[in-house]
Amino acid sequence: MPSLPPFGYPGRWFKGNLHTHSNRSDGKLAPQENIRWHVLHGYDFVSLTDHDQVTTQEGENGLSIQVIPGAEITARRGQVEYHVLGIGLNQMPVSSQEDIQTTIDAIAAAGGVSFIAHPYWHGHELIDLLEVKGYTGIEIFNAGCWLEINKGHALVHWDGLLQRERNVWGIASDDSHFHYPDHGYGWIMVRAETCDTPSIVNALRNGWFYSSMGPQIHDVRLEGDTVTVECSPAHSIYLIGDAWHAPNGVHAWDGQPLTEATFKLARGQRYLRVEVVDMAHRTAWTNAYFLSV
Ligand SMILES: [Zn+2]
Ligand SMILES: [Zn+2]
Repeated sequence: MPSLPPFGYPGRWFKGNLHTHSNRSDGKLAPQENIRWHVLHGYDFVSLTDHDQVTTQEGENGLSIQVIPGAEITARRGQVEYHVLGIGLNQMPVSSQEDIQTTIDAIAAAGGVSFIAHPYWHGHELIDLLEVKGYTGIEIFNAGCWLEINKGHALVHWDGLLQRERNVWGIASDDSHFHYPDHGYGWIMVRAETCDTPSIVNALRNGWFYSSMGPQIHDVRLEGDTVTVECSPAHSIYLIGDAWHAPNGVHAWDGQPLTEATFKLARGQRYLRVEVVDMAHRTAWTNAYFLSV
């Protein structure tokens, strides 16, 4: 039964956080201290996304982690402000406060990938995301915005885009500043053969990752109209699509965690994505897959 990308791809999983701040902007820790926290907590890569500047390492860090240069760039359109994560940049490709489309295009022209940060926290409506083109994805979970004002999730924005056949990827991140315990809540698991910047950026561009607050997703397979999910012990496993479909969530009602579930696609369903929720109510999300109907 064929696995959906990137499950079953060669290589291994690399854990990373694409959104964190050092004391070069409004974070508490110096860049090396921030990087060291990620090393000590099992991350394979991290991007220091300080506001409107690319924070680079000073020399070799001597640590077993890949630091992917990036920035959180402030952009606008009319009265609407955006924060965009530009990942895989060696320098700011555009100034702060430029038009959002100009900013997205400049990140792409510089060889980077772009994720619109914390749409719910920022008050974005779906139209604010629909009228911008060419970005790689959005933050579907931002731990800082979740802890600060409980507006950390952007799943309604994401499904709104997907329902309009805008297949952008969804990332989870910490947006950690380290002034309080805002770190270690959301990350991505990237499938790649090597953990260098070109490989990780290429995988991000192609959506070869899933996002998590804890659960692991081992495999998602599609054969005919049957979807099979394998994961770490879970309370609930969901198959989500572009409309309301008959029950597509399975639950460990008896307290025995689930590690596999099988679903049937609904007729006319145009895309699918999977969510796994563990016994501590932490979620993992696959990217979306469009079906040829
Ligand atoms: Zn921000
Ligand atoms: Zn931030």
